[in-house]
Amino acid sequence: MAKHTIVLIPGDGIGPEVTTATRRVIEASGVSIDWVELPAGANAIAQGFDNVLPERTVAAIKAHRVALKGPVTTPVGKGFKSVNVQLRQRLNLYAAIRPVRSLPGVKTRFENVDMVIVRENTEGLYSGIENEIVPGVVTSLKVASEPACTRIARYAFRYATRRHRKKITVFHKANIMKLSDGLFLNCARKIFEEEYPNIDYEETIIDAGCMKLVQDPTKFDVLLMENFYGDLVSDLCAGLVGGLGVVPGSNIGEEAAVFEAVHGSAPDIAGKGIANPLALIMSGVMMLRHLHEDTAADRIKIAYNAVLEEGDKSKLTRDLGGTGGTDSFADAMVAKLK
Ligand code: NAD
Repeated sequence: MAKHTIVLIPGDGIGPEVTTATRRVIEASGVSIDWVELPAGANAIAQGFDNVLPERTVAAIKAHRVALKGPVTTPVGKGFKSVNVQLRQRLNLYAAIRPVRSLPGVKTRFENVDMVIVRENTEGLYSGIENEIVPGVVTSLKVASEPACTRIARYAFRYATRRHRKKITVFHKANIMKLSDGLFLNCARKIFEEEYPNIDYEETIIDAGCMKLVQDPTKFDVLLMENFYGDLVSDLCAGLVGGLGVVPGSNIGEEAAVFEAVHGSAPDIAGKGIANPLALIMSGVMMLRHLHEDTAADRIKIAYNAVLEEGDKSKLTRDLGGTGGTDSFADAMVAKLK
């Protein structure tokens, strides 16, 4: 069996708790991994690094090409550029893929939700270019470039085709942001018309799209959007299937891939041992598939579906109506994998 070297970034807040749980579960699945643990976020500053994203961490991800990352906190108002924005831009992790699915035993308003958000990850409103024009007047630049818009559109259509998905819906606000969202839309249309006419294609203005999502998310399949919209819509969609504790993600580029949950460092519950590790475990499953470790990925998926379906409250975290914590869920998973 091939041995993989994976960079592990515990991160901040609930990050160390959920990464420890995820590592245990992945190791119990039978894959052979050398973990290279490195800091990012407030944690890096606490360890004496002068940047929230140390060079050593970036270099290790470049060298090993795959990372599993806990959420990080970027200290606000201290002049640091967001760790996530830096990481995604520096490693050119241009596609964020976030599957949002109904899970067995997790009761929500809707059943049979099965969507994938494809979010452009390197530009848009999160380019991090802000200026003070004069005191009291600031601007935040929304950047859209044809290569980046085309690249993410092509990724979404290719992904949809490979995964046998039927439809792509582009969320936009081109009625107001005619140039930037207009370009995003034009690039998506072009890829649809010239390269993937067999996939159903639709466009929706994002405000109406959000309403349609909460009315009936089962009408959606693959959702394609720019950076900022992808951030907001990801959390909205998480709320439709059980919350941030159950939505995984990956950040994919040509040279590297970083797997992380959609959720943040959750300072309100950090250190209490009650965070749900499932979103990061599911991100780990995405990572194993990326590494062609499908047997281990399938085993973990079967195990978490079984733990959820059994519904033993003592094993489930509170966000899922349980009375257990991070470790009790991980223990239940490890027991299934033995
Ligand atoms: P958050 O996602 O951390 O938390 C939102 C809510 O969801 C909180 O009530 C939290 O307790 C709950 N929640 C989140 N993850 C959970 C889990 N695994 N199990 C149970 N409940 C969970 O969002 P926030 O509070 O807006 O942000 C906190 C910090 O995280 C900020 O510093 C933000 O910048 C950072 N952040 C980081 C990332 C990342 O590193 N990828 C993503 C989003 C936010």
